[in-house]
Amino acid sequence: MALPTLPAWEPIAGLYIVATPIGNLGDITLRALAVLQGAALIACEDTRVTGKLLNLYGIKARLQRLDDHAPPEVRARVIDEARQAAVVLVSDAGTPLISDPGYRLVREARAAGITVTSIPGPCAAVSALAMAGLPSDRFLFAGFLPVKDKARREMLEGLADVAGTLVFYETAPRLERSLLAIAELWPTREVAVARELTKLHEECRTGTAAALAKHYAAHPPKGEIVLLIGPPGEDEAPVHDTDALLRAALAEAGPGKAAGIVAKETGIDRAALYARALELKGG
Ligand code: SAM
Repeated sequence: MALPTLPAWEPIAGLYIVATPIGNLGDITLRALAVLQGAALIACEDTRVTGKLLNLYGIKARLQRLDDHAPPEVRARVIDEARQAAVVLVSDAGTPLISDPGYRLVREARAAGITVTSIPGPCAAVSALAMAGLPSDRFLFAGFLPVKDKARREMLEGLADVAGTLVFYETAPRLERSLLAIAELWPTREVAVARELTKLHEECRTGTAAALAKHYAAHPPKGEIVLLIGPPGEDEAPVHDTDALLRAALAEAGPGKAAGIVAKETGIDRAALYARALELKGG
């Protein structure tokens, strides 16, 4: 089968956020290739990684290293160029800005009146959600889980009441400890580990966190991982008795301060606690 030719694209000045493959190099859209080909400048995390991808598709381009630690002058120069020409931002893999650099650049470009366009494509979080069989009508992507046990637990506790699937990026060496932490908090929730998506050893394994921890203790995982946690079941005991905590805080402070105290203690959203504190105060 002959591949379709690239769509005609006359470069138009602006900033283009282009998604690139997360493993399988075939996962790049025709539009992404056309935009990469027509770009005056491609800003990227690592010029070697992006150079390899461009080489594969016979695209020659001027590359500029740019990550979130780049000095403001570098971003300013890139934005200036986007006033006159098509400038692309890519990351090493997947969709830029999704646990990858680009947020500052996009924000500053928009503030400078530059047209910002997203050329959609691979994103590990979305691919994992699409294949895991966990509820997908509502989800919360929370990036990487913290490395330290206490911080990880606090982050998970703060997300305890989210009525949707939780999606995290995880690394192979940390997977087992994270699963054990989840098993302790939520022994009955359904969990999925989506590993090496789009690559030769792709797998998506589901079960309780304890069962998955046992599996990965026996078969240490390799490669890149998305960790998903299903929403709370109706029978799940709440991690925090927020009403009791709020009542105790309200005995000593007004609703605003009480919400702040409990938010700090539990990691739960302050605005939601404030609304509940007002209800408790009223009732
Ligand atoms: N921007 C990327 C995206 O759109 O998915 C994510 C970049 S983030 C720095 C890298 C993390 O994404 C990895 O540590 C892993 O958790 C996840 N990831 C990336 N590629 C993956 C793959 N092929 N399979 C599973 N997870 C992947």
